[in-house]
Amino acid sequence: MEDLPGIVITGASGRMGQMLIKTVVESDKAKLAGAVERTGHAWIGQDVGVAMGGAPLGVTVTDKPLEAFANAQAVIDFTAPEATLEFSKLAAQARAVHVIGTTGMTDAQIKQLEPASYHAVIVRAGNMSLGVNLLTVLTQKVAAALDEDFDIEIIEAHHHHKVDAPSGTALMLGEAAAAGRGVDLADVSDRGRDGITGARKKGDIGFTAIRGGDIVGEHDVLFAAAGERITLRHVATDRAIFARGALKAALWGQDKMPGHYSMLDVLGL
Ligand code: NAD
Repeated sequence: MEDLPGIVITGASGRMGQMLIKTVVESDKAKLAGAVERTGHAWIGQDVGVAMGGAPLGVTVTDKPLEAFANAQAVIDFTAPEATLEFSKLAAQARAVHVIGTTGMTDAQIKQLEPASYHAVIVRAGNMSLGVNLLTVLTQKVAAALDEDFDIEIIEAHHHHKVDAPSGTALMLGEAAAAGRGVDLADVSDRGRDGITGARKKGDIGFTAIRGGDIVGEHDVLFAAAGERITLRHVATDRAIFARGALKAALWGQDKMPGHYSMLDVLGL
């Protein structure tokens, strides 16, 4: 047990945080080494198992990330962009693998991760599930095979608490579609990114975001031309798929050189 890689979960009380704690505790390949929440959170100082309404896990929730990271081989982080930037510096200082599931980061914020990736392994993905990563590969292939007569629309649906839109996954799929077309996503579409659906121009890639109820995550990539359409679809019904992928990334990163990796690297896709 002592030799298993120790994992710290940030945002421990969050929807993903609690799922990640459950996944690590149930795994025979890793052990829970820490749980971090923001300063002032009601869980600080409590045993994380008890805070989650179960048996004690022997890990106290802390608001001192560097102390927690110092004893860990990996940090799994599904929080918020500003927090993730801070955690990337601290994880690099501790030479711990930093698995980033946080979405809604701007290009400028993603660039700020670079110095940390010189010293430690970062695995970042807007979606950690096997199915969605496979879907990005398929999206790129289909986009490459079809010409610009096919409009590409990405339609996503999530629960009403989600703060960013379009989702990180929708943007991943948009990037894959653009790569298949041999263009840069920034050059072909901003449609839907501000909630504004403008008029379509040839070669455009559009986004539509739906927010409602407890939807875990649904993504459709629609290729529509005159007379025919193709839809690629992924439906997530359980957050456990993201947690399992994140744990896989944390273990995969243990023997890798410092750098900024994606889930496609982890899954060998
Ligand atoms: P949530 O709001 O339920 O949880 C976020 C948690 O982070 C909260 O507990 C909050 O207190 C904590 N937090 C915020 N700032 C912090 C700080 N400075 N220090 C410590 N903790 C801090 O949200 P969620 O649904 O769990 O999602 C979290 C993030 O993960 C979002 O960006 C979401 O889009 C993303 N997400 C990614 C994937 C993926 O596969 N990559 C899957 C699901 C969700």
